[in-house]
Amino acid sequence: MRKNYLLTPGPTMIPPEVSLEMAKPIIHHRTPVYIELFKKVNVALKEVYRTKNDVFVMTSSGTGAMEAAVVNTLSAGDTVLVVKGGKFGERWGKIAEAYGVNVVYIDIEWGKAVNPNDIKKHLQENKAIKAVFTTLVETSTGARTDIQAVGNIVKDTDAILVVDAISGLGAEEFRTDDWHVDIAVTGSQKALMLPPGLAFISVSDKAWKMTEKSKLPKFYYSLKKARKSLEDGETPFTSAISLVIGLNKSLSMILEEGLDNVIKRHEKMGRAVREAAKAMGLELFAPDAPSNAVTPVKSPAGIDCGLFIKKLKSKYDVTIIGGQDHVKGKIFRIAHLGYMDVFDIVIVISAMEMVLVEMGYKLELGKGVGAAQKVLMA
Ligand SMILES: *Cc1c(COP(=O)(O)O)cnc(C)c1O
Repeated sequence: MRKNYLLTPGPTMIPPEVSLEMAKPIIHHRTPVYIELFKKVNVALKEVYRTKNDVFVMTSSGTGAMEAAVVNTLSAGDTVLVVKGGKFGERWGKIAEAYGVNVVYIDIEWGKAVNPNDIKKHLQENKAIKAVFTTLVETSTGARTDIQAVGNIVKDTDAILVVDAISGLGAEEFRTDDWHVDIAVTGSQKALMLPPGLAFISVSDKAWKMTEKSKLPKFYYSLKKARKSLEDGETPFTSAISLVIGLNKSLSMILEEGLDNVIKRHEKMGRAVREAAKAMGLELFAPDAPSNAVTPVKSPAGIDCGLFIKKLKSKYDVTIIGGQDHVKGKIFRIAHLGYMDVFDIVIVISAMEMVLVEMGYKLELGKGVGAAQKVLMA
């Protein structure tokens, strides 16, 4: 018998309480029972988003909500600003370009976060910019953006602030309304402790005004249609019923623990992983802007990164993930996200130590575990 430990930045592990809810016999979505549940889910979602605005539930992975953000607010030929410091910032640009939107990029080095003043400069110099696209946690590099600072800049302009909070929401502090975020998107398979398949999107009044002028084609992802249905506690098309029933449970678990406590737990897990890595003589990939969601670590000299990840899985059933694009083979990423507690950190660090030693890396067993324990005890 072996247990599986999934420590990837999506999908993440699922609480058994949530799995059990989703295993119940299916019900119909146009029924009072489901509508009641869906309304309850919407209230809970607003709490987790810390917003007064509606948060729409979409049937897609997170990228669907990213696409919805673009097609509902913009028209072909519009200009937008995209912060690109990894795969997901890049994705904002690719979606916008696919629809004929002009993209101005702020290119930042992988592992670094954007300087909010660079966004300010672009907005001052280019009044045509209609939207600023950012990423709360750039999952490919582990870097966290100071969305509060960005929000304070964008709010004084005509542009809207759109945030990919897919891996960050529920792991990092994130205040949609207080931070003047016009659109925030997230997905089910990260901190929200569900399987993949749902995406979420919040829309501010400023963003709704842009939907009135938006000419990009949309049908399934029309937010206006979603808003009309939500008035009756419904979705325009068939709801992903089982996932929404699971969501009802996972959101109650988050709110029962308390959103602040959930964030603190993630903060602690993130710090434990970083301290453990350092104690093991490993180098962090994004030390200047660490996140609570995922920690990328540079693969040490002499260790085959791909083989290290493979051995973790084959010998100990611990799954972490490698780097993408030009950092493939150079970094590995440990997620501390969602249904995880402090002892999951001890497990992954322990397994990492064992595999590294097996691969010939000079390390005294327990060094990393001890460093993690010190953080977890504090
Ligand atoms: C996981 C993730 C996405 C994801 O998308 P899917 O469409 O759900 O695969 C987008 N952005 C970030 C920052 C992510 O971590």
